[in-house]
Amino acid sequence: MYENEIENIASKASNEEVYYSLLEFTKDIMQKRGKIEGKKKIYYISAEFLIGKLLSNNLINLGIYDQVAEALKRHGKNISEIEEIEPEPSLGNGGLGRLAACFLDSIATLGLPGDGIGLNYHLGLFKQEFENNLQKEVQNPWIKNKSWLHKTNVSYPIIFGDLRVQSIMYEIDVTGYDNKCNTLKLFDIETIDETMVQEDSISFDKNDIRKNLTLFLYPDDSDYNGQLLRIYQQYFMVSNAAQLIIDEAVAKGSNLYDLPDYAVVQINDTHPTLVIPELIRLLLKRDISMDDAINIVSRMCAYTNHTILAEALEKWPIWYLEKVVPHLMPVIKMLDVKVKEKYGNNPKLAIIDKDNRVHMAHIDIHYGFSVNGVAALHTEILKNSELKPFYDIYPQKFNNKTNGITFRRWLLHCNHELSDFITSKIGDGYKKNAEELEKLMQFASDKETLEKLLDIKIAKKREFANYLYANQSIKIDENSIFDVQVKRLHEYKRQQMNALYIIHKYMEIKAGKKPARPITMIFGAKAAPAYTIAKDIIHLILCLSDVIKNDPDVSPYLSVVMLENYNVTYAEKVIPAADISEQISLASKEASGTGNMKFMLNGAITLGTDDGANVEIHQFVGDDNIYIFGETSEQVIEHYNKSNYSSEKIYDEDKEISKLVDFIISKELFAVGNKKSLIRLYMEIVTKDWFMALLDLKEYIKVKEQMLADYEDRDKWASKMLVNIAKAGFFSSDRTIAQYNEDIWKLN
Ligand SMILES: *Cc1c(COP(=O)(O)O)cnc(C)c1O
Repeated sequence: MYENEIENIASKASNEEVYYSLLEFTKDIMQKRGKIEGKKKIYYISAEFLIGKLLSNNLINLGIYDQVAEALKRHGKNISEIEEIEPEPSLGNGGLGRLAACFLDSIATLGLPGDGIGLNYHLGLFKQEFENNLQKEVQNPWIKNKSWLHKTNVSYPIIFGDLRVQSIMYEIDVTGYDNKCNTLKLFDIETIDETMVQEDSISFDKNDIRKNLTLFLYPDDSDYNGQLLRIYQQYFMVSNAAQLIIDEAVAKGSNLYDLPDYAVVQINDTHPTLVIPELIRLLLKRDISMDDAINIVSRMCAYTNHTILAEALEKWPIWYLEKVVPHLMPVIKMLDVKVKEKYGNNPKLAIIDKDNRVHMAHIDIHYGFSVNGVAALHTEILKNSELKPFYDIYPQKFNNKTNGITFRRWLLHCNHELSDFITSKIGDGYKKNAEELEKLMQFASDKETLEKLLDIKIAKKREFANYLYANQSIKIDENSIFDVQVKRLHEYKRQQMNALYIIHKYMEIKAGKKPARPITMIFGAKAAPAYTIAKDIIHLILCLSDVIKNDPDVSPYLSVVMLENYNVTYAEKVIPAADISEQISLASKEASGTGNMKFMLNGAITLGTDDGANVEIHQFVGDDNIYIFGETSEQVIEHYNKSNYSSEKIYDEDKEISKLVDFIISKELFAVGNKKSLIRLYMEIVTKDWFMALLDLKEYIKVKEQMLADYEDRDKWASKMLVNIAKAGFFSSDRTIAQYNEDIWKLN
């Protein structure tokens, strides 16, 4: 099919022309494929959809990728260069937003009717640049005249306390693998003014809602106006969602009392929580009683919890909501009264607490029918500690859905070499049924297979090295070990512990102990603009990179690279090239992780704590094919409960550790870095270390050294790679979505 069209496109002169023709061509095919239909639909509402570039994935899902790639090749063009032209939308921040994007792919692939609902942020999350070894944030415009977005004529009035706006809905088609389409619906208003953002920055006037409502994802909320803007955004998102859901159900014949037969809403983290009172309010307006409205909506809404970090569970002062959404307050107050009537004045269960703050997660749990965690350990922690008071009253609502990733993007697209090789070994059934990867186990000690895996890894390392050089003018040695930690910067993820490892290695090499093979430490991470310590950690890593690069004693054996503006595109390049996957969060703190799954699938070996989905990876691959270290989640939770962890004590008593920490404020680092930032980070680690980097540091160093030594037995290492790939099937988001559907959504 499409031979002539594809030939015609491939013969165009410039890469730009080819890209834009392919864009229109692909959009056209998706339109013709048609929509996945069904009586009941899942609405996945999320503040973030970190979708990445779409061209290749759409071509793969439409089954014409190879055909297009070959036609381009005949005309002397390369599809990966064509792809470079597509801007990556930064509509997400990290794992949570990427999960939403993987889910949309799997929902369509399984043929389930389901749309994403979010916002069309014009400037996305910020773009990261490095200047003087510091992170700088600049705007990231991504919407061009021609893009995957189409404007629809769907539009709703949205009422705020002090203004009223009219929305417009944009859509991006989401094609399933070998299936029809769903859509990602992104709401916006016409009056947004990008010119109000100061050039080369992310600052703007936070008061002018008509101009700024959908400028940025997570606009700075360190002040009052910033916090109000977050509520404006959240309500704008869910009021549009609620009106759309009701309209679509009514169009299909709903009498509103049977709304749960037409719609199920998945609330991704607490940002979309206000959809619950908004749906109730809209039903009241249609003359449904309060009790009936609450009953209907409670049978429609399900909540996914993504974190146990207390600071991430949203609580808004009631008068913020009174200002932005006064018409929602009677409903929220009624929801609170009913909880208090039923369960007494238990502060742990209250929607409105004694300080007059509204607890968003509590609305979700009381008035949704399902609460799920995102990995087995995480769900157990929710049930047994973080949300225990709720589990005690609603045990039937709690369930686990271990996260997953779409193998179309994270294997077929980002690692053709590996997926073609797997196909040559076990056929291509695994593309639709990921569990078939297990068939690879029969080759676990087949020399030829193992050698080929190592060859593919080297090819992907070379490819990444070239990309890195083209992007950041940094040269790395493809024969070194690529040790990779790429993820949002947060103290709980413990990039600082990895940095202390680098200091250890640097000192060893300085003392004459050279590693068997050079090591390349690769980081990629954005820090939230107001998170000072996170930015200090980036600064430390960049300074270490600088010191090591300029030290001829050390640079032949060790190098440190920080990827600038880590995003999906970068992830797709670096993950297939990784030898070691760093998943070193403080046990109990990483809800699931999905980066860990992408690395596993691409044959990297995990160095990690027994945390999040690492626990499940560990169970699947067994002790011999993963490197686990550190205190367990139970031990860590006990330290918090007893407040008995003291980094100062460790620092004072252990000279090997204090020597590493002291290097943060050494003359070497001061020579290239900002003294204030380095001292602040040093003090934080010595006196607070809230996420216990020093607790596991020595064992981390020891296990990593073991891993580097084991790397030298190439056959054995390759068989570990193979086992990881073979056991990755469980982590397909197709499995995750099948479980959501089976236990929560019940579509079809
Ligand atoms: C998968 C992914 C993440 C999540 O990584 P974790 O290691 O699970 O935190 C973050 N950012 C991007 C760009 C990703 O692709």
